[in-house]
This record gives sequence, C-alpha cells and structure tokens, in this order.
Amino acid sequence: MYNVWENVLAEIEQKISPAYFSTWFQDTSLMSAENGHIVIGVKNSFYVKQLRTKYYNTIADALTKNGVTVDNIDFEVKSDVKPKVRSREVPVTIELPKLKSIKKTSDTTDNGLNSKYTLDNFVICSNNDVAVAAAKSIIKNPGTRCNPFFLYGGPGLGKTHLVQAIGNELVKNNPNFKILYIPVSRFYSDFIDAIQNGKGKDFNRRFEKLDCLIVEDFQFIVNKEKSQEEFFNIFNNLYQLNKQIIVTSDRLPSQIETVDVRLASRLTMGGAFDLQLPKFEDKCAILKAKAEFMGAEIEPEAIEYIAENVNTNIRDLEGELSAILLMSEVRGLTPWELIQNGAASINKNSKLRPTSSKQVVEKVAKYYNLTVKEMCGKSRVSNIKTARQVAMFLLSKELSMSTTKIANEVGVKDHTTVMHGIKKIENDIKLNFTLRDQIDTIKEHIYG
Ligand code: ADP
Ligand code: MG
Repeated sequence: MYNVWENVLAEIEQKISPAYFSTWFQDTSLMSAENGHIVIGVKNSFYVKQLRTKYYNTIADALTKNGVTVDNIDFEVKSDVKPKVRSREVPVTIELPKLKSIKKTSDTTDNGLNSKYTLDNFVICSNNDVAVAAAKSIIKNPGTRCNPFFLYGGPGLGKTHLVQAIGNELVKNNPNFKILYIPVSRFYSDFIDAIQNGKGKDFNRRFEKLDCLIVEDFQFIVNKEKSQEEFFNIFNNLYQLNKQIIVTSDRLPSQIETVDVRLASRLTMGGAFDLQLPKFEDKCAILKAKAEFMGAEIEPEAIEYIAENVNTNIRDLEGELSAILLMSEVRGLTPWELIQNGAASINKNSKLRPTSSKQVVEKVAKYYNLTVKEMCGKSRVSNIKTARQVAMFLLSKELSMSTTKIANEVGVKDHTTVMHGIKKIENDIKLNFTLRDQIDTIKEHIYG
C-alpha cells in the first residue's frame, strides 16, 4: 500500500506547484483502502479542510490512475504513531461549504457524480463562456444539440467541474435520468477485469440503458486498442439512441496518437469546445467568487496580486488563494497585509518571469530600433505601431498585467486600445511566421 501512495504522490506532484505539494502532501499517508473507502492520514485538522476542499479530486484521480478504486475519501488526523496501525479515531469529515441544500442521493456514488460541482459555483468568463453555453443547451435538451459534447483543455482549467455540473443538473431535472461518469482509466481497468473474469462480452451491458455517458481524460486511451474498440461500440449504440455523450480530454482526438480516425471524427462531430487559460480579468473574477464562496474577506489588491502571479491554471489559482487565506487566519493579518509583508510570496516557478514591465518595454523598443519614448508615443507609423502592440501583447502574456496597467505602461489613452492591440497580435501570429519569430527572439532577449 505504501508503494501505491508513493506513486500517487508522484502523480500529484506533477500536477500542482512544488510549494503546495510540500505544504499539503509532505506528511500524508495512506491509512487504509478497503472497498473503495480510502482513509488518508494528515498532520492536523487544517490539512483535513484544505485537502478535502482543494485536492479531493486530484487525490481521487491519482489513486484511480494507480489502480485503486475510490468511492469516497476520508481524512484522519494521525497522531505520530506509525501510519501502518489503523487508528481507532473517528475520521474527521469536513462538510463542504454551502452545499447543505444538496442532498447526497443514493445514486450519487454509483453514477460517479460529485455534488460539489455545480453550475452555480462555476464562474463564467471569457475562457469558458462558449463551452458553458453548450453545457446549458445540453442540460435543457440532452442528446440533441452538442452530441457528443467534446470538451478539451489543459489540466486544472475546469473540465471535470463543468462536465460534473452538467451531470448533476441533468439528475436534478430528472431524478430518473440514468447517467454514468467514468474516467477512461476506470473504463479500461473495469474492461480488463471483465475480460479476465470471462465477462468481456457482457461488459457493454452496463452502458446499454444509460441516458448520458460522461467519459473523462480520453487521452489515456492511447495504446489501449481493445478498450478503444469497446468504447467505439458503446459510443455508437448510445449515439444511435440519441443518448447524450460527453467526453473530456487534454487535447483533440486527432492529436491523440493511436486513436482510430473514424472514432476521432465522430467524437468531435457535435463540436469541440475548449477551455483556455483565463485572462487577468477572468482570474480576478474567479478569485473573487471563490473568496465569497468560502465566506472570506480579501482586498482587491490581494486578488490582483494573486491573479498577476499565477499563470498556470485555475486549480493553482484556487490553491494560492486558499494558502493565503489560511496563512492570514493563522497570522492574524489581512491577505494584503500579509502580501505586503512579504510573508505570502507566490511560487513563481510556473514561468520564467522578466523582472519588470519596464524591462519588457525596453527590450521590445530596442529590438525594433526605437527608443522607448518613440515606441510609447503617438506615432501611427506602421512599424512603430506594431512594436507598441507587440509590447502590449508581451506585457499581457508574460506578465499577466491588466489592460489598464498596460495602457499606462505603453502610453496609450485607454484599455480598449490595448485590448485591440493584443487581439491584433494574437491573430497575426497565427499566419505571420516572421512576426512569430520576432516575438520569440524578443522573449529570448527578455529572459536571456
Ligand atoms: P480539469 O478537470 O480541467 O483538470 P478541474 O475541473 O478539476 O480541472 O478544475 C480545477 C479546479 O478549478 C477545481 O477545483 C474547479 O472547481 C476549479 N475551477 C475551474 N474552473 C472554474 C471556474 N470557471 N469557476 C470556478 N471554479 C473553477
Ligand atoms: Mg479533470
């Protein structure tokens, strides 16, 4: 069991920033795992709350990936006895905030849905609004439009949250709706079990009567040919009956090696929807909503500081927020006081960051043989304007600065000009390879 936990930790370590990993996972252990009931030992009750609210899914995913069946996870404060002895203490279970009104129905565990994910607590912003609109249309009319619903994007951007929320809403609207949420890794291991027990032929029975099938992390189907074939059959059967199919992945099916081309094209015929990295304003909105949800007070300056410094994903954004709120509780300072005191330095390993916006502006100007004054002046001459827009683009992408701050930095009147400038470069680099190379070279100068 201990080896398993080491593997699980290794998996988690890849997903979260090193600072969090050592803060939250260093002293954890797997106390027991019987019949899907997992008990994890932690240092004290602070950790129980953090791990339960922030890392529940990460831990569950990592356990599943390592072949451990997970129905529910409890966290237990361990005394410093060796974790091997299962303590008799009552496991500490923390109720999730504000979810009291949602009853845990008996099928919540069977169908794989977790009631903590709702549309109400999913913040809609420019990185996800199209996907959310599609989700809403599915909730209204499952199996008609957006079928299959293919949702893709990098880790920690809200795929699980959104598809779980769809599932929860569907069941809420119609308690008889038969739904199954299953990660591909689980699909695969159940399929292998069925074959080994001589029940391979009956495997698809479980899926026959479903009204909606949600399959997560489809990218892990790679090299699992038989499972893929089985999935293809199940997919076709359900699809013909107009049942809703929802699939998530970290990339498009056509980018997953060894995925059958026919399956790849079928998976995206209802449209492929992506979740993108949130922009500065989105990050602020998410942080604000999360803080409100937790009932915590946090100053706008502190929110902006976190938004500017976390450039990876929403999971890390949440992690940073919780860590700062926790520390502020412990130290008796407000989050912004804490940050100003330098006590809450955010781990910036996610990206190499240039030291200042001034440096970015200077490097861009220098590259285009302009002085900063020329570049940040009023000239509409084409190459000067492009340089200015490249500076806007880099300040946004590399420093996550708000458009208002960028406007100040490059001497333009208002933030809409900045938004336009960033968009222009974003579009241009799709086809203009010279511009793309130029930007890469400037980045080398900045970081070099
Ligand atoms: P993924 O499945 O893409 O790796 P998750 O759905 O697990 O990502 O999201 C990571 C964390 O970020 C979760 O705790 C989730 O609740 C939160 N999250 C992601 N997007 C949003 C959003 N738009 N609003 C609120 N929380 C979000
Ligand atoms: Mg996920």
